[in-house]
Parts: sequence; structure tokens; C-alpha cells
Amino acid sequence: MIVTRFAPSPTGLLHLGSAYAALFAWTKARAAGGRFLLRIEDIDTQRCRPDFTTAIVEDLRWLGLDWDGGLRIQSEHAAEYDAVIATLAARGLAYRCWCSRADIQAHASAPHGPEGAIYPGTCRLLSAAEQQARAGEPFAWRLHLAAALRETGPLTRDPRPFGDVVIGRKHTPGSYHLCVTHDDALQGVSLVTRAVDLEAATAIHEVLQRLMGWPVPAYEFHRLLTNPDGTRLAKRDRSVGIRALREDGYSPARVRAMVGF
Ligand code: GLU
Repeated sequence: MIVTRFAPSPTGLLHLGSAYAALFAWTKARAAGGRFLLRIEDIDTQRCRPDFTTAIVEDLRWLGLDWDGGLRIQSEHAAEYDAVIATLAARGLAYRCWCSRADIQAHASAPHGPEGAIYPGTCRLLSAAEQQARAGEPFAWRLHLAAALRETGPLTRDPRPFGDVVIGRKHTPGSYHLCVTHDDALQGVSLVTRAVDLEAATAIHEVLQRLMGWPVPAYEFHRLLTNPDGTRLAKRDRSVGIRALREDGYSPARVRAMVGF
């Protein structure tokens, strides 16, 4: 059975671009008699707000979407993500990193990947005593990609341009990469639909899936809706907000038609 999901980050209101992504995933599931899930990816508590979650849920319902089961809210599951990090660390596949963004940027020669400067690996080389000395300071968990690649076998995409990505932090649960793959596996998502701008990140997701023995779902990438001038839709731009279109008297059918559904 096909299981798809829409997994918004509640950093703003639903706009035409995110409504398109939701309708894309929902249609794939419903057309095949499958299941459609709604998951709130709010691990970045600095940027995400519960009132946006409430508004997104309301706007999705107004658009005519329904989902199977309850909402999964990532911020309520920190212990599950911590457990994955602990497993990877115990296997020598994750390490603590104390470098600041500035430290990493200071490596002027560091090559760049999809997420900016590739981490030069400074903290991977710290001795146990050096690590112990910094234990009280805030740190990030990084994936030891070279070690990981010795365990994954052949991959569909090349993750090396990402380097040792951050998979968690001392005081926050896992990173986007870790939580999204954990939850897709836990929830039995069989088809991940996402915009083309996230296609590259799928390479890192496959690494985590292979390391953890999680199934690798099918992927389908859809276009990113843009303004007529080609620029990205902004969550702050009222003219593309579902809430604003509602207030201006648009019907759900008309808004769906605006994004091709
Ligand atoms: N939560 C991610 C976002 O808002 C999308 C989830 C995914 O498809 O990986 O961009």
C-alpha cells in the first residue's frame, strides 16, 4: 500500500507552494487507495511556533485534505531521535563537534557542498581527553561519513558533497536529516514526495536509512512553485498565503485550481 505524507515545518502560514506539496502527496495516496499522513517537523523550536501548526492544520482542512491517524509532532519525540544518535555514536558513526560556524568558515579552503562549507573534520580528530575537557560546552553531533560509507554498500546518490553533516545537538533533538528519516521509517512511509530543492539531501537520508536498517522509500520530486519572476514564494508574502486567499473570498476549489489540483 502506498503511504505518503506532508511534513511541513511550522515557521509560517501555509502558502500556495506548501499547499501544492500537500495536495501532491495527498493525491498520490488517495488515487492509489493508500494512506496519507500529516507530520509537523518542528524540531527547530527557535523558528517553529505552535500557532502556525494550528493554522496549517486548519488551512489544510479548509482545502479539503484529510489524513489518516493523528498528527505526529516531532518536538514531542526527542527521546527517539536521541536514541538513534546514541546508537550511531556507539558504532563509531557519529562524533561530537564543538566548532562554531565561524570556525568552519575560517577554513577558507574548505570545499562547498549543498549545505555550505563542508565540515573539515576538526573534531573528528580530537583525543578522548580533549573531548572530555569540552564535555560541558554546547556541541553538535556529526555523522562520520567516511566510516558510514564503509557500512552502507552502494547508494543511489552520492552523499559526499555533504560531508559530516550535523545530525543532532546537545540541547535539541535530531537534525532535519535524522528526524525525517527516522519518522518516515517509523510511520511506514513508502513514497516520499518532496520539492526538487530537497533532492540532493536525499543522498544523506539514504545513508542514514542503510545504517539504521530502515527501508529506503521511493522518492518523487515535484517542482517548486515560484512567483512569476522566478523567485521563491515567501511565507511572509500575504498574496500567496492560503489564509489571505480565504479572507479575500476565494473558494477551496479555486485555490486548489491555482496550483493545478
Ligand atoms: N519539513 C520539510 C520542510 O518543511 C520537508 C520534509 C521533507 O520532505 O523532507 O521543508
